[in-house]
Amino acid sequence: MSGSLERPFDHVIGGTETPGARGEHASVKNPATNADLARVAVGHADDARHAMEAAQAAFDGSWWANDDGGRRMRALVKLAGILESRVEEFALLETLNMGKTLKESRGDMGFVVRTIEYVAGLADKIEGETIPVPGARLDYTIREPLGVTVHIAPWNYPLLLAVRGVAPALAAGNAVVLKPASLTPLTAIAFARLAKESGIPDGILNVVSGSGGEVGETLINDSRCRSVSFTGSGDVGRRIAELAARRTIPATLELGGKSPVVVFPDADIDRAARGIAFGIFGNAGQMCWAGSRLIVHRAVHAALVEKVAKLAAATRLGAGSEPTSEMGPLVSAEHLGKVAEYVDSARSEGGTVVTGGAKVTTESLGNGNFYAPTIVDGAAPEAKAVREEIFGPVLMVHPFDTTDEAIRLANATEFGLFAALWTKDIATAHTVARRLEAGIVSVNEAPVTFPQTPFGGFKGSGLGFEQGSEVVRQYTRRKNVVLNLSVPKPKA
Ligand code: NAP
Ligand code: MG
Repeated sequence: MSGSLERPFDHVIGGTETPGARGEHASVKNPATNADLARVAVGHADDARHAMEAAQAAFDGSWWANDDGGRRMRALVKLAGILESRVEEFALLETLNMGKTLKESRGDMGFVVRTIEYVAGLADKIEGETIPVPGARLDYTIREPLGVTVHIAPWNYPLLLAVRGVAPALAAGNAVVLKPASLTPLTAIAFARLAKESGIPDGILNVVSGSGGEVGETLINDSRCRSVSFTGSGDVGRRIAELAARRTIPATLELGGKSPVVVFPDADIDRAARGIAFGIFGNAGQMCWAGSRLIVHRAVHAALVEKVAKLAAATRLGAGSEPTSEMGPLVSAEHLGKVAEYVDSARSEGGTVVTGGAKVTTESLGNGNFYAPTIVDGAAPEAKAVREEIFGPVLMVHPFDTTDEAIRLANATEFGLFAALWTKDIATAHTVARRLEAGIVSVNEAPVTFPQTPFGGFKGSGLGFEQGSEVVRQYTRRKNVVLNLSVPKPKA
């Protein structure tokens, strides 16, 4: 691995690795130490246009969009197999660049492999309909690929969230251009290098790194861009929706969350405590679907907070690459600063810090971006740290007395991505799941998702969805064809 980090991570455009028109590189860091990790090409608008050109040429000129889906299926299965054989290498690369533990990175890579396999299985099932119409006519629909699709990924699950958009677009026969987050581009670039070996034609899978403002917007504004899928913050998502609207192209937006975890008094409190800790301290809390607001019945409030606090305090922090680490650093020093500011604001808005609430400054971890798992109880519902997404290991706690109050608290947010509830009562589970304004609801386990289940946010959390059996069709356009079959009567 150390050898491959010496090699610069260049753009992959048209099947060729290139440092880009200006040949610029910048360093990305290891967030466990803030030391330089690897050199990455810095793309600009001309590189973005070059990638769009290469993608369009491959879409028009290769077999990818024109042969039957079975051939794409075989190439994608091969890609999944190559990645699976190199999971350890990719997991380590993800961990070194993003910070998450090796166990978490291995889990991510497993999800990536399964996602590619799942959409590969759909590639030869993109079918149209025949529609009965009046008279001697045959009417049918065709599902065609869109052309060149653009995918913009965030840093919290760098390869997983990139592939979640790219893989179904590929399965549908599109040529893709992916822009990874500037902080974490390594695994996306390493992934694109596998395309050739998998038999995917050059130019079908392109990666161009560089800033969102310049490279990202140039990709979307390019007349060849036929759709954009984006995962990231709400502000950038709404900007992308505007750009897409001006070009009349579809946009899929997976944005942030402030997800409630509702615990009823009959719940298995020990299991709930472990699930809650996993749902907010996993990935160091840098999850769009983190269970960041604990809404707990007053009868079990004190006992549950104590149990989660014990788990938080016992969490072993350390570099993700150390096998003993249970929680890695935050992605950057700047992001740690934002998380710390939120906790300080919660303190000043009536919250009590039950555990954590500070950067870790020990000799071994002080250079990295480690923030202690944190629980804040009793902050006012209007507090900034209660309303806004923190995107760090910070759990806000609110007691409730009645089910109506719990649901009101749970839904009192601009977001609607995810919600969890813990109860042994089946009627409570079903009725509360219906009343929660969230695109994904989990009962007695959280968070959990699969490539075959839809993932998408309500309200400010997004537009459209990823995953699930309809996702490949989302990257197609539907054409209706009608044939008049009537034979003209011979003239008398
Ligand atoms: P971000 O700032 O929105 O960035 C996401 C991606 O968009 C990056 O690749 C970024 O490039 C790019 N970008 C920035 N400005 C752009 C622009 N004007 N046009 C086009 N692209 C642009 O988000 P982040 O800081 O990476 O990630 C954290 C956020 O993502 C959180 O709010 C979190 O909730 C959300 N998220 C949501 C989900 C979900 O599935 N719902 C999953 C993960 C994360 P640069 O890196 O160069 O800035
Ligand atoms: Mg950002």
